[in-house]
Parts: sequence; C-alpha cells; structure tokens
Amino acid sequence: MTYTNFTVETDADGIALVTWDMPDKSMNVFTEEVMDEIDAIIDAVVADDAIKGAVFTSGKKDSFSGGADITMLKKMFDIIQTEKAKDPEKAVQMLFDGAGRMSWLWRKLETCGKPWVSAINGTCMGGAFELSLACHGRIAADSPAVKMALPEVKIGIFPGAGGTQRVPRLTNQQDALQMMTQGSSLTPSRAKAMGLIHDVVPPKKLIAAAKAMIAAGLKPVQPWDEKGFKLPGGKIYTPAGANLWPAASAILRRETNMNYPGAAAILKCVYEGLQVPFDTALKIEQRYFAQVLQTTEAGSMIRSLFVSLQELNKGARRPDGVKPTRFKKIGVLGAGFMGAGIAYVTAKAGIPVVLLDRTMEAAEKGKAHSEGLVTKAMQKGRATAEEKEKLLSLITPTTDYAEIEGADLIIEAVFEDSEVKKTATEQGEAQLKPSGIFASNTSTIPITALAKNSKRPKNFIGIHFFSPVDRMMLVEIIMGKRTGDKALAVAMDYVRAIKKTPIVVNDTRGFYVNRCVLRYMNEAFQMLIEGVPPAMIENAAKMAGMPVGPLALTDETAIDLAQKIMKQTIRDLGEKAVDPEQVKLIDTMVDTHGRHGRKNGKGFYDYPAKPAKKHLWPDLKTLYPQQDADSIDFEELKQRFLAVIALEAARVMEEGIVTDPREADVGSILAFGFAPYTGGTLSYIDGMGVAEFVAMAEKLRRKYGKQFKVPKLLKEMADNGETFYTRFDPYAQMDEAA
Ligand code: NAD
Repeated sequence: MTYTNFTVETDADGIALVTWDMPDKSMNVFTEEVMDEIDAIIDAVVADDAIKGAVFTSGKKDSFSGGADITMLKKMFDIIQTEKAKDPEKAVQMLFDGAGRMSWLWRKLETCGKPWVSAINGTCMGGAFELSLACHGRIAADSPAVKMALPEVKIGIFPGAGGTQRVPRLTNQQDALQMMTQGSSLTPSRAKAMGLIHDVVPPKKLIAAAKAMIAAGLKPVQPWDEKGFKLPGGKIYTPAGANLWPAASAILRRETNMNYPGAAAILKCVYEGLQVPFDTALKIEQRYFAQVLQTTEAGSMIRSLFVSLQELNKGARRPDGVKPTRFKKIGVLGAGFMGAGIAYVTAKAGIPVVLLDRTMEAAEKGKAHSEGLVTKAMQKGRATAEEKEKLLSLITPTTDYAEIEGADLIIEAVFEDSEVKKTATEQGEAQLKPSGIFASNTSTIPITALAKNSKRPKNFIGIHFFSPVDRMMLVEIIMGKRTGDKALAVAMDYVRAIKKTPIVVNDTRGFYVNRCVLRYMNEAFQMLIEGVPPAMIENAAKMAGMPVGPLALTDETAIDLAQKIMKQTIRDLGEKAVDPEQVKLIDTMVDTHGRHGRKNGKGFYDYPAKPAKKHLWPDLKTLYPQQDADSIDFEELKQRFLAVIALEAARVMEEGIVTDPREADVGSILAFGFAPYTGGTLSYIDGMGVAEFVAMAEKLRRKYGKQFKVPKLLKEMADNGETFYTRFDPYAQMDEAA
C-alpha cells in the first residue's frame, strides 16, 4: 500500500518504520488526509501478521510535527458557522464528532494490540505530542531541536486529543497542570524526568533504540489499561489532592482572571477525568473540547494568534512581483537605545551591520549592548560561544559614513529631531546602493515629512520598532505618501529575516500602536481625575486582560515623555486636542513632584531598592478627592479600557491607516498585549457584535465623554450587520483570484 504522506518499511525483524514526510511542506501537520492515512496504517499494521510492532517517526530534519494544519482548523470553523445557521443541533453534533476524531484515532492506535513507539526527532507539538503519548514507547533524540509541548492554550483551546488525560496519568497532577495551562515547551531531559517519555538517545541511534524497545517485548498495553493502575500523583480525593486543587483553582484565577475558557477547561478535564475509567475520561475531554471550540474566545484567538499571525509572518501583505531581498549589509544610524537593539536583532539574523554614531565611544557602547544580551543568552544555555563570536563579528561600530557604502538598507535611529534626522538621511543616503532603501525608526515624525529629505522618496519608508527591540515581536512598517512597492517589499523581507511580525500602516500621527496606547493611558488619567482609587484602575485593566496596568505602563515609558507628547500635540493640533485636566495632572506629577516614572524611581509607583517590590505612590490618592470604591462599577472600568482602545482601532480603519483587520488585531496583541482572549482590538468588537459594541460605547460616551464617540464606520457596520472581517475581508482578493 502506498501513502501520500507516509512511507512504511518493515524490516527483517518484523518491525514497521512509519515515516511521516509530507510532500511540498517544510513541516508535517495534521490534515484530513493525514488522519485518514494514519487510520489506514494502523489497520494495515494490525492486519499484517508479519508485523510485530511499529515505530512512528518523521522524515523532516529536526522536526516531528507542528500539530494541526491551519487550513483544517479554519475550514472546521467555517463549516460550523454555516451549519449553525441552518441547523444548530446538527452543527454541534458535527463539531463534537470532529473534535473527537483525533482523540479516538489515537485511542485506536494504543488499543490495537501491537506495540507502537514514537521516535521524536525534533519539534513535536500539540496533536503530534498527543499521538506520541498514545504510543506505548516514547524516545526522543538528545538534540536542542527537540522540543515537546501541548501549546493549545495559547490559542484559546486545550489539548483535546487525550492530552489532558494521558499527561496526568504519566506524571503528577501539579506538573501536568502547569505544563498544559502554560503551554510550555519541554526539553527531552525534562520530559523524561516528568515520566512523559521513556528515554533520550543520541540522534543517530534514535530509530535503532525505538526498534529495540519493540524487539525487547514492549507490551502493547498502556499503564492505564492495566488492572490495578495507580495515578502517579495519587487520586484527587487524597490529602495531596486536597492540597493541590484549591490552590490550582486560585492560581488559574490569578493568572487568567477567568478570561480564558480553554485554560479553565484543562483543570476541569483533569479533575473530572482522573476520577473515571480512561474511555469515559476521553469522552469528558471531548465534550469540553467541543464546548470550548464554540466560544468566541477560541474562535478569535485561533484566528488572530494562529492563522493571521502565520499569514502575516509569511508576508501576506508583501507586494507581488518584487524579488526577495538577500541582505548583505545593513547600516544603522544612531547607536543609542533603539539603534543598539536594532543592530543586535540584525546580527542575530546573520546579517552584517554597520553601527554608526557621532563618537566611537557611543558606537562601541551600542555594540556592547549586543555583547551583554548574547552573554546573558549564553548563561541561560540559549547561545553557544561560537554563536556569540559570530554575532559580534557581524557588528562594525563606526563614526564614518563611508563604511556604510553599498548597504541594501539603512535604518535611521538618531535623535527624534527633524534637523538631526535630515543630516543623517542625506549623509546616509549618499552611501546607499542606487536600489537601496532608507528607513526611519521615528515614533512621532510623519514619514512623508521625513521623506522630503530624501532624493528617492519612493525608496523611503518607516520601520518602527518597539522597545526593548530584542523582545518585542511587532514592527510597524510605515508607508509615506510616495513610498513604493519595492521599499515595502524590502522592509518586509527585513522584518521577516529578523523573525518579527510586520504590519503595514499608512502615515499618521502616532501610527497605529501608539495611538491606541495613548488612549489607554489617557483613560487611566481620566479615572484618576474622577477619583477612582489608583489600585482599582490598575486592577480593572489587568482583569480586563491587559498585561500591564496603564499607570505602570506610563511609568515604564516615562511620565515626562507623556508630558512632552502632550505639549507637542498642543503645538501641532491646538489646545483643544488635549484635555486640560489631564495636562494639569501630568504637569503636577512631573513639575511639582518630580515624578518622571520608573527611570527616576518615582512615578505613579514608588520603586524601592530590590528585593522590595514597586507599589503605588501613596500620595497619588491625595491629588483628587477619592470616590468610595464600593460605589464604583468595576465592570464598567474594565469596559472603558477595552472600548476606548477598540474605538481608536476602528477610527484607524475608518481613516485607512490600517487596511487589513488581521494587522490591527495581531498588532494590538503583540505590541501592547491587548486582552489576547478577545483576538485583538477589532475581534473584540466583532466578537461582541458591532451593534452591541456601539450601544455600549454610546452609553460610555454619555457618562464619560467624547473619547467614546462612535465613528461613522461602526454605526454603518452596525446598521448593515457587518463585521470587520466581512467588511474588510482580507481574503476577498484571494477568493476572487481563485
Ligand atoms: P537615543 O537618544 O537613545 O539614541 C540616539 C542615538 O543617536 C544617540 O546614541 C546619539 O548619539 C545618536 N545620534 C544623534 N545624532 C546623530 C547623528 N547625526 N549621527 C549619528 N548618530 C547620531 O534615542 P532612542 O530612544 O534610541 O531613539 C532613537 C529613535 O528611535 C528616535 O527617532 C525615536 O523616536 C525612535 N524610537 C524610540 C523608541 C523608544 O522606546 N525609545 C521606540 C520607537 C522608536
């Protein structure tokens, strides 16, 4: 029998080697066809008396499988949506059956009567790790490429193919819960220590060791199918269980604020599943899985954090017809805070960088930043001495523009000053190759204005990084009025080379991300002025799903920077553009109390010497008469934060600054952690229903002011029953083309 995605070779000892190697794909993923073939392979192995057992492995170098295929998931969601409209009950049944397909297939494998061993040669994620757990033997190659995880929770779902049942039957419940609720990756040695795999062997010996397990008489029965099986961590209703479970629920609440149905379902599956026989336990898991798949959170998170993220990373917005760029040399102007970070991520991608500043001392200091980061990575075992040496050898600090000669791309990160930028642009551009691209990392000056300093405005673009550059995964690519396709393509190729996610944004004050972030901070200032207790402000934001409270965030970016931005806004747009009460608050913080933020240890928070933790500045409460906390509608505070940001995102779409909802959504999560369970700023609106969102915003506007004014676009969408993903359908062009 031949298969499209597998080869099966049986050796002289009667051991079948099943190698998964999908044609035309760099990584193995689960598709309907793959599942059908695995089903057929199990049948064939069972039917063939000459076969004693089977080893399952992958033919891809350094990777076993990435888990589910995005197109399969997307298709499933589409079918359910269409079916739901016709026959809701049938749709749920379909979903339930679909949700269990993989689970029961793995169950079939583990109860087929012949032993299976999974030989894990590389990344093994989600369903693929669940398949491995269903195998009677599991061996991993001793290689840094091998990482095992059940990361489903990160996209709003949970391991629904037996993961929640097999993991806590192999290891103690606490470790099992931690691994699954965090979706964390395990190294081979950690997986072995947890009892999830049997052995770790040198990569070259992997298949031989797997076959040896079968030859040695591996029993084709899982421990939980044996009489007298005991849970490794003990039963739920034991003193140990009584210690673990109340704490586990409390931790879940602390970490997720119960915003993530997928994470909560993991606890329920483990708690309920461990009290019943294995087949019943799988059914419990299947029911929760079907339930979670129907939540708005799962749909939105899968769309933004899985499908859209991958599409954007693959260059969904890259213009066609421009040849891919191979970067031989990149110039970075300004070796300060941002320039030094940009040089690091560029060299880390293996691209030679010339790092230029006004003095050699400043340029060297910029390079030293890379040395610091790579040394830390080495200490954590994430980089080798050779990698460090190579990375540092790629960065050339200099004060001489001539060194940049022939660069494919220059990224300017000098002072935020139009005159300084003008000189740097002229001097830099003189060294660029004729087809080279010049990019500015400005955060506030319009790209169209800066492009006036360029002789080739078509080749001038914004590449806007976030700090700290090495950790922030989003990059805004800013299109000036005259920026051409070539510049966009090169900028995207660069962002892809450094393994970050690009979003394309048209020129405007604050671009996309900072416009939203400012709204978040301003709403907190407004609440302070209203007399909402500061701790309530911070907690409401975090319980709404934001990773950092708005006051803490303002401290991080600096309160005097907020003051500067307000002053600049007044200069550019007039007094009316900012709320005078808010100006007064910020002036009082900075000018009267010298509170500049984290950088001077005094902001909305106090920053005592370590190990003491930061805490809200006690006198903050004295600036405004405080409301009685019990009289404040806490849910409304949460709504205000999400709504004020989402409204700004809607305005950005209305103005055509961002044109693709995927970019607005993914950008908001990657750049400022907009409540990830919503799927991002626009999915938050879509998920709630545009009409309902509009009604909520109207109510907030009446109570709190014009920041909640509903843009025309949203009213129109509400009237027409549209969503962002139907009105600005990112796939429309593709569908037309197809
Ligand atoms: P910085 O002050 O830390 O660094 C600027 C560097 O440019 C300094 O080392 C300075 O010596 C150098 N420089 C000044 N004039 C120069 C010239 N003519 N030629 C060569 N080098 C020169 O500033 P930063 O925070 O790194 O910001 C740099 C740019 O990045 C600004 O445009 C800023 O708006 C933008 N940006 C900053 C952030 C942030 O969080 N700090 C985020 C995004 C974008």
